[in-house]
Amino acid sequence: MFLLFGLGKQTIKEMGNTDSIQCGRCNNVNPWKYRKYSTWFTLFFIPVIPYKNMYVKECPICKAAVKVDKDEAMGNVIDSPSDIAADDSVDTTPNDGLTEVQRNYRIQMDASKKANEEASKEANEEEEEL
Ligand SMILES: [Zn+2]
Repeated sequence: MFLLFGLGKQTIKEMGNTDSIQCGRCNNVNPWKYRKYSTWFTLFFIPVIPYKNMYVKECPICKAAVKVDKDEAMGNVIDSPSDIAADDSVDTTPNDGLTEVQRNYRIQMDASKKANEEASKEANEEEEEL
């Protein structure tokens, strides 16, 4: 069986803003941006698993970035609707005569499809900002 997989597709997710900080590099005082950089394991060019996540806060002026804990970055963010939906779909899986393996496969395909749509949406947003 032929499998095409790869590592290294990177997505960036905006996680909200810090309070105003004076930047040590450009000396501007601004709220910095929390960002999550995810590197994805891809299967047939579809991002399947984020195998590495890095959280940073970033100066909006000179892009100086400081690594932060996940907890610090997540403190700013309310659960996104897609996360909630994913949890619900696990709890409310209908008894439709599928085996557990088939059902899990279907859930995984839905999740990776969703992740892929989100990733490409984010990629588009990134391009518009530039
Ligand atoms: Zn700066």
